[in-house]
Amino acid sequence: MDVIRKTPHDCSVRPNLTDYEQARAQFHWSDVPPLCAGMGPGRCNIAYAAVDRHAEGPAATRTALRFVTDAGSDGAITTRDLSYSELGRLVRRFSGALRSLGIHRGNRVFTIMNRSPELYIAMLGALRNGSVVSPLFSAFGPEPIATRVSIGQADVLVTTRAIYERKIAKIRDRLPSVRHVVVVDDGKAGGAPPGTLNFWECLDAADENAPIEPTAADDPALLHFTSGTTGTPKGAIHVHGAVAMHYVTGLYALDLHPDDTYWCTADPGWVTGTSYGIISPLLHGVTSIVDEAEFDARRWYQILQDQGVSVWYTAPTAIRMLIKAGPELPAQYRFPRLRFIASVGEPLNPEAVWWGKRVLGLPIHDNWWQTETGGIMIANTPAFDIKPGSMGRPLPGVDAYIVRHNDDDTTEVVDEPDVEGELALKPGWPSMFRGYLGAEERYRNSFANGLYLTGDLAKKDADGYFWFVGRKDDVIKSAGHLIGPFEVESALTDHPAVAEAAVIGIPDPTVGEMVKAFVTLKNGVVADEDLRLELLGHARKRLGAAVAPKDIEFVDALPHTSSGKIMRRLLKARELGLPEGDTSTIERQPDHRAEGVPS
Ligand code: ATP
Ligand code: MG
Repeated sequence: MDVIRKTPHDCSVRPNLTDYEQARAQFHWSDVPPLCAGMGPGRCNIAYAAVDRHAEGPAATRTALRFVTDAGSDGAITTRDLSYSELGRLVRRFSGALRSLGIHRGNRVFTIMNRSPELYIAMLGALRNGSVVSPLFSAFGPEPIATRVSIGQADVLVTTRAIYERKIAKIRDRLPSVRHVVVVDDGKAGGAPPGTLNFWECLDAADENAPIEPTAADDPALLHFTSGTTGTPKGAIHVHGAVAMHYVTGLYALDLHPDDTYWCTADPGWVTGTSYGIISPLLHGVTSIVDEAEFDARRWYQILQDQGVSVWYTAPTAIRMLIKAGPELPAQYRFPRLRFIASVGEPLNPEAVWWGKRVLGLPIHDNWWQTETGGIMIANTPAFDIKPGSMGRPLPGVDAYIVRHNDDDTTEVVDEPDVEGELALKPGWPSMFRGYLGAEERYRNSFANGLYLTGDLAKKDADGYFWFVGRKDDVIKSAGHLIGPFEVESALTDHPAVAEAAVIGIPDPTVGEMVKAFVTLKNGVVADEDLRLELLGHARKRLGAAVAPKDIEFVDALPHTSSGKIMRRLLKARELGLPEGDTSTIERQPDHRAEGVPS
């Protein structure tokens, strides 16, 4: 099997993690540097560690967030910077503003905004105030907003005038828990719509030296809704103590160094965009790029080049879109500062890892985690070779297992390598979720034999690398075989004509389920019967007749969640003429310029 070997030449700076085995053996969560020592004994607050600590320290004048604004009429990309001290001042003010509105520790602040400075100020300010923050994706329509706000019993909504007028005003009377709506005026008109408060007026009137709420590590900090890939989204509760995880994973999985320019392409409406788009980079005092616009291949290459991005954290769906756009585009750009690329959110096909090496000069480091884990668990790191197609190995401080569920309802750890089973984690890492809001039984059912069950199927090889097989719900049972969609999709995306593939099982009286693939093609490739037959043959050669798809259908696009994941359950429901279920997170056409970016 092809392995991408790491050599000293791969690293223009010395990685934070060099000896994986030793780091794992010696690691204790209690050894993580105290990030909130300045708050006094027993205190912990994410905003303190991420912002206050730097705003008064040596990083004060460094750029914390660089917003890349939409191109002007001349096509030029402009930027606006917030230094750590400026961000600190605004975050202090926002926490003061909330306090003067009677919003305190434990109250819930929901944000529904595009990626503008106000979103970051509001989220960090609310954390600093001890309030529980729930960032909602700005492209949600009124119904998904109403559902989540009701589940979360929001006390405050922070949004923009455009979103308020289009989506929230009409459902306001269905949101009785909401005491205040704070609105950022998008510059179209002054003041604030009736029944709302103006963001900047609140900020200007607030105390710039508002004291931080003395929260503790176990106090709730964030409420994140899952992507809804497999069903109705769940609200996962996270605590301030998670900050230790965001710090350690920024160090080991993203290899952040203080002089990095870092770009996480995820929207803060999803957990990646908060944990690694806001918290982790600020903890490390780096400069983060925030792109305010939606995905565009040319623009993304331009940002990587012009902003001198050194560490880039993105997602398979974005990588597939860049691949689809063709090789001519990246050939027009240079990325001399880029030194580390990582990806999360979906399985990363081996071909995408190689594409990174070929086109950007660097392999892509896949890593695995989920909303519930709050931080990266399994990763390819600078410290070891990459086996393309593998998610990597558990980070120091994380214990991951493959488990088998027996007929007598017991769950046991599988010791032999290369056996498929459910991926399970030993609780104890700091960013572990503390519950699903309003679904205690579901939370309890996520544990067995002292382990947290992730709902994903995987296998572990003899070298300790984990390989994703599929979600429990997506696995196909055909003629006695268990088929993971990822393996089949990877074989198809391996073909030069294929951009993206999604595989489902169709009920079949003879074999149980028949494997069917939906395929999108790269730009310029013509979909015809010859190509279909060629792809069927290609897959059969790679996978064998038992696993290869029996049917391939060409489609213009696959259904994705707005966080960029392929929704196989929707393909299946459509194919079988069944109800589509919860579609609140499905990716829709952007209805304002900052929406629709994959995370
Ligand atoms: P829901 O739980 O509502 O169905 P979701 O599981 O997609 O949605 P997230 O928490 O955003 O919501 O996604 C986590 C899931 O994404 C993981 O459980 C896994 O299935 C998938 N995933 C994330 N990273 C990877 C990866 N590197 N390889 C394979 N799958 C991944
Ligand atoms: Mg999930």
